[in-house]
Amino acid sequence: MIRVETTRDGLRSAIDALTPASGSVGFVPTMGALHAGHLHLVASARRQHSVVVVSIFVNPTQFGAEEDFDRYPRALPADLAQLEEARADLVFAPSVQTIYPSPNLTEVSVRAIAGRFEGALRHNHFTGVATVVAKLLLIVHPHAVYLGQKDAQQVAILRAMIDDLFLPVALCVVPTVRAADGLALSSRNAYLTPAERQAAPVLYRALCQAAAAVMAGERSAASVARLMAAVVANEPLARLNYAAAVDPRQFHEVDIVEDGHMLIIAAQFGATHLIDNLPLILTTDSAAPV
Ligand code: AMP
Repeated sequence: MIRVETTRDGLRSAIDALTPASGSVGFVPTMGALHAGHLHLVASARRQHSVVVVSIFVNPTQFGAEEDFDRYPRALPADLAQLEEARADLVFAPSVQTIYPSPNLTEVSVRAIAGRFEGALRHNHFTGVATVVAKLLLIVHPHAVYLGQKDAQQVAILRAMIDDLFLPVALCVVPTVRAADGLALSSRNAYLTPAERQAAPVLYRALCQAAAAVMAGERSAASVARLMAAVVANEPLARLNYAAAVDPRQFHEVDIVEDGHMLIIAAQFGATHLIDNLPLILTTDSAAPV
């Protein structure tokens, strides 16, 4: 059975006991209800580190009062079986009391990024994320933390936090794992009705069509955003929240789409909010060295 620790001291002793003198620790923070996307992060960490620690913690402070904290899927036994199969070494599954033993007076806020897009829809969400990940990093002391490209704004926030606070940890971003029809895997996909599940790949279709337009020469970010909105408008079960081209570090909306920018999209399917994105790699002849 995979080893599970629920306390900070227990986890620290377990990590210290497992890590060889010259070894390194890779850390994968999750909220559980694991799927192949999470396991891809674990596999990436497994290739690089002697010890792989996975946390499973549904963090209350990143959910708004109206959001799905209570009904968020929890599946610890199945998660542990998958992590054992993926050869993780240790699972940290703390209680809320362990992570927030007293009212939290300290928050980590990456304000310049946290108010846009997801942050505009989910008030305080990213402050909750940054605060809990800071706590987890300070408990685990990993050499590297593994995050999914799927949550691109979260990556931008945590990259800024790590850089600005000089946190001694490398950030590894792992590409999005998708279902065969293109839908990005997400624990929240479990909420979708069969009809909504059929409709949900429209997000990836919109991203791909927009990326194709960019590859064909379209550079106006407004036109690209309109194209994505039009694709989503054709799907009656989807209601667009936002579609934009951004610079992936600051999450500023751009005017002119360039190499390295990112297309982002989010829509509501019934009660379920889904997000997706596509980084743009544009290698044109004119940009190539002569
Ligand atoms: P969560 O449990 O939703 O908080 O996600 C934990 C980590 O898994 C985050 O870094 C996510 O970005 C990452 N993740 C979630 N879905 C996917 C996916 N489809 N592909 C790759 N990584 C993912």
